[in-house]
Order: sequence, then structure tokens, then C-alpha cells
Amino acid sequence: MAVMKKNEHVVVLGAGPAGLATGHELSVSGVKVTVLDRNDFVGGLCNTNEHKGYKFDLGGHRWFTKNEDLNNWFRRLMGDEIVWVERISRIYYDGGYYSYPISIFNVVKNAGLWTIVQAGITYLFSAVQYSVFNKSIKNMKDAYVAQFGAKLYDMFFRRYSEKVWGLPCELLSSDWVSQRSAGLSIWTVIQESLLQTKSDNESLIEEFMYPCDGYVRIPQRMAEDIVAQGDANSVLLESNVTRIKYLGPNDFEVNYTDAAGSEHTVRASTVVSTIPLGVLPRIMEPGCSDEVVDAARGLTFRALVTVNVILKKERVSIDTWLYVQDEDILFGRMHEPKNWSPAMVPDQSTTSLVLECFCTKDDDIWKLSDEEIGQRCVEDLEKKLNFIKASEVIDFSCVRTLQAYPVYDLDYGDKIAKINDFLSGFEGLHVVGRGGTHRYNNADHSIEMGLLLGRKILGYDVDYMEVNTEPEYHEIKSSKDPERDYYRVEEGCS
Ligand SMILES: Cc1cc2nc3c(=O)[nH]c(=O)nc-3n(C[C@H](O)[C@H](O)[C@H](O)COP(=O)(O)OP(=O)(O)OC[C@H]3O[C@@H](n4cnc5c(N)ncnc54)[C@H](O)[C@@H]3O)c2cc1C
Repeated sequence: MAVMKKNEHVVVLGAGPAGLATGHELSVSGVKVTVLDRNDFVGGLCNTNEHKGYKFDLGGHRWFTKNEDLNNWFRRLMGDEIVWVERISRIYYDGGYYSYPISIFNVVKNAGLWTIVQAGITYLFSAVQYSVFNKSIKNMKDAYVAQFGAKLYDMFFRRYSEKVWGLPCELLSSDWVSQRSAGLSIWTVIQESLLQTKSDNESLIEEFMYPCDGYVRIPQRMAEDIVAQGDANSVLLESNVTRIKYLGPNDFEVNYTDAAGSEHTVRASTVVSTIPLGVLPRIMEPGCSDEVVDAARGLTFRALVTVNVILKKERVSIDTWLYVQDEDILFGRMHEPKNWSPAMVPDQSTTSLVLECFCTKDDDIWKLSDEEIGQRCVEDLEKKLNFIKASEVIDFSCVRTLQAYPVYDLDYGDKIAKINDFLSGFEGLHVVGRGGTHRYNNADHSIEMGLLLGRKILGYDVDYMEVNTEPEYHEIKSSKDPERDYYRVEEGCS
């Protein structure tokens, strides 16, 4: 095993879960780490905003991983800050509420027996097409239809996917479905709802862990540990990385601008980047070809406006999440933070909601003012969902996030390959994380990748890019779940 020299300096770009996890793994081994983030908070997309004492995640973030080693690492990190949350999710579709994961009885109750007959017929039709005649799966629509049949695709996946991505499913890659719901099919639905089979080693998850004071506590705990390891380590906020100069193998100059606009340079033996893969090649020196620039520009994101509402009402729903399919309702997903942890609201006679409006920078939703988006959402809650009265609203605020969802268009894989080919010429530069690899990671995936990258930099033989490529559905717990590595049991970090 090649062992990293302790006097080396690793500079991590981005203080989201991935960057902090790499920094955490390295710093507990005595490696000097500097983490730079352009935001004035740690956590990236895992931030929890506070308004008038109410805490709002950027859309409800649960902790769930099938990797028990990683769960043990998480428990050591978070200590007594963890609460268990029962998962109750529903889909709002054409005025009815459907349980999620989909249950056959519930579909019959809401939509009638004929709908289930149609679902069965269309599923059989697609089974013949895709399994018997080997019809090829070319896009997201094909992937869903092959798994669930045309009727269930149309009811539960088409509209929501198009709301999230802003594109027809025919123009999106099937990779998203294979990453997010491989192994889940109409048979899982039948097994769970008709046979009530929760076999000993496989079932859909029904509860998850959550940090009682909001999800941001996870990155905050990692950042606390990194700086506690020694004065040499730092997590610098409001530090926007603008250029990375390659001086030779394992020798870099990283330039960043602070909040006052002053420029700084830091020397690094290793650079770990979690900033978007479509941005990184464009700030490297020596620079990349026009072809790589085009590929980089082509890696796009969906944006998100979250509307955080405070209400003079004890509770709105029992849901963990409500997925809203209907296009005439502005938001696509809603959660009530109090249902996750009572500590998310300062006064238990009140409650709050987070409403997620998916959009693209400068589209019709993004261009609305905060006041307009908030008012539209309150109207939808009152008039379409009958959840609240407008008079119960104490206040609302909006949070805008540009790089929320990495888009998998039909040729995103080719673009990533071109960029990675260019980046492979910089010895000592590593990319990791959701935007960093343009991979649709959950936070646990980004943390797992980050920890494994830390181990790789320390000289262990691990493949961190394997994370989030498992063939099984990420919500099915199974006795075959991965045990990739034993994450370090650090002293003083629990
Ligand atoms: C609405 C929503 C709900 C989600 N729900 C869940 C959930 O329930 N469970 C779950 O596990 N995951 C969930 N996720 C996913 C989770 O948020 C991400 O997987 C995770 O935050 C990714 O971590 P990361 O470190 O890879 O990237 P990020 O969190 O994006 O961090 C990247 C960091 O890089 C910084 N950066 C970028 N450019 C620069 C620059 N030039 N200079 C300096 N810094 C820079 C950014 O400021 C950011 O802090 C959700 C995401 C969203 C948007």
C-alpha cells in the first residue's frame, strides 16, 4: 500500500457532503486539509435554512443507505442527534391520493378495478415487447414502460418526471431509471401489496434516520471534526474557486476569491473537486480544447425554488413526502419538517411546509418574484389541495438553488467521457460527488464516494466510482447489500 506523506496538502473544492467526507477521512489520518466553498455555509445541497426559528431543509433529506458499514460510520458521527422517522409517502394524482410505494389495493380504491385491469394488460404487452422480442430501451419512457407497463408509467412516473426535469421522458436517458429504480418493478408492487411478503432478506424501506436539528448537521459535524484535528486544517467559506493551475504531477496552485473580492492562492499536492464537472475543465490551466468546452457546457442542471411556509396550524398532513403530479399545481413535492423532527419548529402549536418548485434558470417559474411564487403556492395549498386557509399563513420565504439536479440527457455519458479524458491528464486531481461527477447521487452516495476517495488518496486499493452503480433498487434492503470497506473507526470523532 502506498502511504501518503503526512506533510502533503489536500485542497478540497466544495464543502458539501462529498468534499467534507474526503476531508474527514484524510484529516483523521493526519493529512493537512483545506476545504474551500463559495457559499457562506457548509453542506451544499444538504443545507438547512432557518427563518424565524423554523428550520427548513432544501427539500426533505432522509438518511438511508444499504451499506451497514456506512450506517455505523454515520451513527459514530452523529451520536445522539439521530431520530428515526416513519416513512409515509403519497402521490397526489388527478385529485386523488395514492400511497407510495404504489399499492394495488390503493390504486383500485382510488381509480377503480378497470385501471388495474388496464395496468395488467399494458404490463403484459410491454413484457412481451421488451422481454420476448428484446425491444431496446432507448430513453426514460422506455425504461419505465418496460418495468411497469404504459398505464402505471402514465399515472405515476411520466408527469412527475417531466415536472422535475422539464423535458419529455423520451429526451431523457434511461440511466436515471436504472440508477434509481433498477430491481423495482410491477412484481415488487404485487409482492408488497397483494402477498404482503416482506421476505426475510428483501423489503422496501419503511423508516429512516434523520438528524433531529435538520440535515445540515451531518456536514456540520464533518466540518467540526476536520478543524478539530489540528490548526493546519481549515474549512474556508465564501471562497469561490476561480482557477486551478497544474504545475506538474501532484503540484497545483488553486486560486479563489473571498467575500471582499480579494484573490488568494493556495498550493496543493492533491486537489479534490466537487464543483460541477461541467465547470471544472473550464477553470483548469492548461485549458481544454473547444470540443471539451462544448461537452462541459452541455452538462446542465435543473434548478429549484423552495418555498418555506410557516403556519398557524398544528399539523397539515401525516406525510413524510407528498409528490404532486398535476401540472396546474406549481410545486412538485411537499414535506412538513415537524413530521421528521419536532425540533424543526420552535412552537408545537404551529407547523411549517417546504414546497419544491422545479425549474430552469430564467424560465417562467424562475423569473417569478419570491412573493409571486410564494403566493401561487399558498393558493395551490388552499384552493387545489384544501390543506390550509390563506389566513393561517404566518410568513413564507424562498430559497433559490441553481445546480440542484444533474440532467441526464440522451448523450450526457459521451460528454462526461470527453471531460474525464481531459481531466485524467492532471495527476493528483480527483473528481467526486453529485455535481462533481454529474451523477444523480443521494447524500449517502456522495459521502460514501468521498470517504472512499479519502482512502484511495491514503493509498488503499478502493474504487470510489463504483458507488451508486448497484444493480438493485436503492430502496430495497437486502441481505446482499454491499459491504465495500470498513470505514475508519476514528478516536474522538464520535
Ligand atoms: C430537493 C432535494 C432533495 C434531496 N433529498 C435527498 C434525500 O432525501 N436524501 C439524500 O441522501 N439526498 C438527497 N438529496 C441529494 C443531496 O442533497 C446530494 O446528494 C448531496 O448534497 C450531494 O453532495 P455533494 O457534496 O456531492 O454536492 P453538493 O451538495 O452540491 O456540494 C458541492 C459544493 O461545491 C460548492 N462549489 C461549487 N462550485 C464552487 C466553486 N467554484 N468554488 C467553491 N465551491 C464551489 C458548492 O457551493 C457546494 O457547497 C436531495 C437533493 C435535493 C436537491
